[in-house]
Amino acid sequence: MDEPKYKRIVLKLSGEALAGDAGFGIQPPTIHEICQEIKDVHELGVEIAIVVGGGNIWRGHVGAEMGMERSQADYMGMIATIMNALALQDSLENAGVPTRVQTSIEMRQVAEPYIRRKAMRHLEKGRVVIFAGGTGSPYFSTDTTAALRAAEMQADVIMMAKNNVDGVYSADPNIDANAVKYEELTYLDIINKSLQVMDTTASSLSMDNDIPLVVFNLNKKGNIKRVALGDTIGTTVRR
Ligand code: UDP
Repeated sequence: MDEPKYKRIVLKLSGEALAGDAGFGIQPPTIHEICQEIKDVHELGVEIAIVVGGGNIWRGHVGAEMGMERSQADYMGMIATIMNALALQDSLENAGVPTRVQTSIEMRQVAEPYIRRKAMRHLEKGRVVIFAGGTGSPYFSTDTTAALRAAEMQADVIMMAKNNVDGVYSADPNIDANAVKYEELTYLDIINKSLQVMDTTASSLSMDNDIPLVVFNLNKKGNIKRVALGDTIGTTVRR
């Protein structure tokens, strides 16, 4: 049997990942494919926490650029992540994977509030925990949420699934033909070179807590499992 490299992972899915070719909104068939892969990893016995973004529905800074008050716009973004979490939960449960959604902003009729010790217990019992609502505070991102929850859950790794890019490059490979892919980086490299991986808050938090990050291409089937098994695909970022 395949031996997973990690016991406990935090998988960061951007909102965009759930939008499929439409690029916007929620595409259940796309989510179904992702959830089949998550199921494969779950069957390896890996404890899985998922942090989901909301950019497929709403991004706070876009609202702010159009004149909205930033915090107000950010709360809308956080609520968007909860919609995505429910869609993921629906699909995972359909695939036979037990789940719990925990929200950082209370929404008791639809999900549990975030309680760290309870989340740990769910993971130990083999439930996939989906963290929704970001950190619960405006001006943060779901990347920072992933870094925060990974520290709180004492996860072994943050697995950052990217759309159509197989790691971290020196420049956007879709625009710059000379862009080179990095196999390994430090968090300081990301910060100093302003690489488009995760924001500075998320990078510094992961650096301080010494949690490695693997950035990989979600659009290649089987990649979530490859990373969980320790295959060296994508880019690994360490302290
Ligand atoms: N957001 C926030 N605080 C958080 C997490 C998210 O205010 O702790 C808001 C923010 O407006 C952001 C939106 O939620 O633009 C969606 O999250 P994000 O952009 O991180 O999603 P992704 O890009 O991963 O889809």
